[in-house]
Amino acid sequence: MKVSMLGLGIMGAGMAGQIVAKGFEVSVWNRNPAKCTQLGNLGARVAASPADAARGADLVFAMLADDDASRGVWLGAEGALAAMRRDTIAIESSTLTIEWVRELAAAASSRGIGFLDAPVTGSKAQAESGMLAFLVGGPAELLERARPALAAMSSSIAHLGPSGSGATMKLINNFLCGVQVAALAEGLVMAERSGLDGEKTRAVLLGGAPGSPLVKAVAGRIAAGDYTANFFPGLMAKDLDYAAREAAKLGLTLETAAAARKRFLDAVKAGYGDQDIAAIIEPLRHPAGG
Ligand code: NAP
Repeated sequence: MKVSMLGLGIMGAGMAGQIVAKGFEVSVWNRNPAKCTQLGNLGARVAASPADAARGADLVFAMLADDDASRGVWLGAEGALAAMRRDTIAIESSTLTIEWVRELAAAASSRGIGFLDAPVTGSKAQAESGMLAFLVGGPAELLERARPALAAMSSSIAHLGPSGSGATMKLINNFLCGVQVAALAEGLVMAERSGLDGEKTRAVLLGGAPGSPLVKAVAGRIAAGDYTANFFPGLMAKDLDYAAREAAKLGLTLETAAAARKRFLDAVKAGYGDQDIAAIIEPLRHPAGG
């Protein structure tokens, strides 16, 4: 099976590495070509454009920052969709709005190309070790055809329903994640200012009800002062924005998403945009002028 991966950021690079390692014939493309070198050394074909990468592929995955990046890569000049054969499958794994995912699904369908929305949960470590969880929307028959490649990158594949279901589930998932991380940062700064012991604070919070896997992982990075990027704050702000916009269409205001989003945007403004989401605690510890 010939597989293409468009986008070799933190997630796409790890995912492409897994499909190469598991024996698929892989082509890769990234806007900044320097990120292709490592995959090329592992045996992937490095393509000059999304269209070049997609040509001849049975499955084309995209793992890109946001709606704008996805639109350009699939439908722009030298976009992937126009280069794909009929009856192949386009798979969007980026975290995107439902509106754009539906538009893209329709664009694929009008060309006789199958489409799955298949965003992921898990982060850098899970992408690099093939332990992601796929949240899939679209026809079951397409999922069965794509399953071997998805299985090569994941430890679980949930089929949520028709087209857009995976994207919807992913926004709800990251809405909860973003709120948890923002609340953790606020709670830890409150503990610090109250003079509570840091180790005891972590033991109580992480050993008790608030200690979700995400809260544990991020609290560990905060304790170590290790803000090596696993997930950029700007992308979490984007996810919270997309989730709030989709909820608004359903007549629901995600008040907590808006509050959490502000924390991630504050971190970007304070210069932590190229570091991990855990760094959102820093502007809270040291507010501007404070
Ligand atoms: P990342 O490291 O910032 O990678 C973003 C990718 O998008 C890069 O390949 C980047 O290319 C590309 N890109 C951005 N703007 C573009 C444009 N206008 N045209 C073409 N390509 C463009 O982000 P990531 O962490 O891999 O995340 C990728 C997606 O997965 C996002 O939707 C994110 O929300 C989601 N996600 C992330 C995680 C995580 O923990 N990191 C987990 C689950 C889902 P360049 O290299 O040229 O900039």
